[in-house]
Amino acid sequence: METSTEGVTEAHSGDTAAAEPPVVAGSTAAAGESATAGGRLAIAPASLSPSRASDFMQCPLLYRFRVIDRLPEKPSEAATRGTLVHSVLERLFDAPAAERTAPRAKSLVPGQWDRLRESRPEVVELFADDPEGERLARWLGEAERLVERWFTLEDPTRLEPAEREMFVEAQLDSGLKLRGIIDRVDVAPTGEVRIVDYKTGKAPRPEYAEGALFQMKFYALVVWRLKDVIPRRLQLVYLGSGDVLTYDPVLADLERVERKLHALWEAIREATETGDWRPRPTKLCGWCDHQAHCPEFGGTPPPYPLPVRAAGPEPAEGPAHGAAAS
Ligand code: SF4
Repeated sequence: METSTEGVTEAHSGDTAAAEPPVVAGSTAAAGESATAGGRLAIAPASLSPSRASDFMQCPLLYRFRVIDRLPEKPSEAATRGTLVHSVLERLFDAPAAERTAPRAKSLVPGQWDRLRESRPEVVELFADDPEGERLARWLGEAERLVERWFTLEDPTRLEPAEREMFVEAQLDSGLKLRGIIDRVDVAPTGEVRIVDYKTGKAPRPEYAEGALFQMKFYALVVWRLKDVIPRRLQLVYLGSGDVLTYDPVLADLERVERKLHALWEAIREATETGDWRPRPTKLCGWCDHQAHCPEFGGTPPPYPLPVRAAGPEPAEGPAHGAAAS
């Protein structure tokens, strides 16, 4: 999954982008749909993940570029390190409990980096200008330090996760489909569920904690819908700063996030049908790969690849309006 911490988008192998449905329509394309600038057929968004929900809240145009146009993005060192660290923490649980030590976890880093390069060859570009390997060595060292810090926050010899990198998908009564990948799920002997997410960035300042918890409440809602159990605890583990943020959700939290997601989905549907995706510039634009296509930076978006709803007639003034107002 992914979150923005201090402007840096953190992603890993469980990035919910991977959990997004393909936007390629292929033979299922409806009449009027056309190809994206990348030559693929596009279809309207069909589900929501925490990452993409956050994208839309940050900037609707960014959402369009990622979900509908599927514009390519360059890998970043921070996001790729996040992916690497997540895969190490996941794999460590393959070992018997007593062997889940910091030295063992650090020893997994080179092998997981090799695997990552095989599965996503584009990450090799990150170090293309580093023939001596010095920057790569520093970067791997930072990944090791993040892995090591985890042992000051949790004790994996005392944990037996019920799930790691768990893909989840649930459909709400409205038909809205929610999906994503949860880093770790712990289940106590009493049946209480804890959802855990690792972040390789720093913990947000208290005034931004609600934004960080949005993703966790999203997952809590999905788990509740799937298993009819409200998770007892949501836990964010910040390896960058050595902080743990926890929240114990109640039913009202999940109902609130469900209402929020419905409103968000309605706004996404409206933008999809009208083609009206507004840019919303913020300081996070500095991290956006799409400035060249963004009107806020003098760019032009690619041609919109989906059919646009024709504007309807203006609502007529008449007795019905007067009656409604009275
Ligand atoms: S540059 Fe900023 S306003 Fe433009 S698409 Fe990216 S996030 Fe949105």
